[in-house]
Amino acid sequence: MSDRESELATALAALRDRVAAAAGAAGRDAADVELLPITKFFPASDVEILWRLGCRGFGESREQEASAKIAEFQALTGAHDVRWHMVGQVQRNKAKHVAVWADSVHSLSTAKVAAALDRGAQQAIEQGLRADPVKVFVQISLDGDTERGGVDLGDPAAVDAICAQVADADGLRLVGLMAIPPLGADPDEAFATLAAEHRRVVQNHPEATELSAGMSGDLEAAVRHGSTCVRVGTALMGQRPLTSP
Ligand SMILES: *Cc1c(COP(=O)(O)O)cnc(C)c1O
Repeated sequence: MSDRESELATALAALRDRVAAAAGAAGRDAADVELLPITKFFPASDVEILWRLGCRGFGESREQEASAKIAEFQALTGAHDVRWHMVGQVQRNKAKHVAVWADSVHSLSTAKVAAALDRGAQQAIEQGLRADPVKVFVQISLDGDTERGGVDLGDPAAVDAICAQVADADGLRLVGLMAIPPLGADPDEAFATLAAEHRRVVQNHPEATELSAGMSGDLEAAVRHGSTCVRVGTALMGQRPLTSP
């Protein structure tokens, strides 16, 4: 085993324990919480190691980095049993490319990007490049600072409009909500607020059962408030060489 392999194996085991403990404390089944490695800024060789350790889903935050890494990963492994998640903001002019590789997009918050992603997904399906619609988490901005991504929680009509748009799009499938706690916010409060918004949205969209919430530092709070997918970068991969955009 290489040094990197034992490092990743140790970190992955510790994270699986953290998720199991958090689920147990919340009276939930750990199998209902996906541990999604966020591999941005780390090489395809790390993804290959995690894949050999049993991971089958990975999150990336930039289209070009992801496309290149996926091609490299496939050349390394020949694996086609992996689901790639786009967790960063999708630029409208990149939506067509994201629609080719992304099983899920966690960060949708504008009608324009939703329309572009829908068109891209329908085209990719027609061309045989993907089989199913892109799963979409609508990102919620808990503090109304929509520059950092997300639909303003304080504008429920806007949240409802984008959820309806995604639910009606042939190339997309609404699966739930996502949020990142505001800087300096108490994660428990932030995720409780998100969970309340999720309960509201699910009344109109009973299929939107998923909640993408929690990262390296706050996954316990997120699991306590119903997260079904924790997106973990640093605690698994180590410090990123650059801060993420
Ligand atoms: C980078 C990133 C993560 C991982 O964050 P860590 O704090 O390193 O675990 C999670 N979610 C999104 C949207 C990210 O961009």
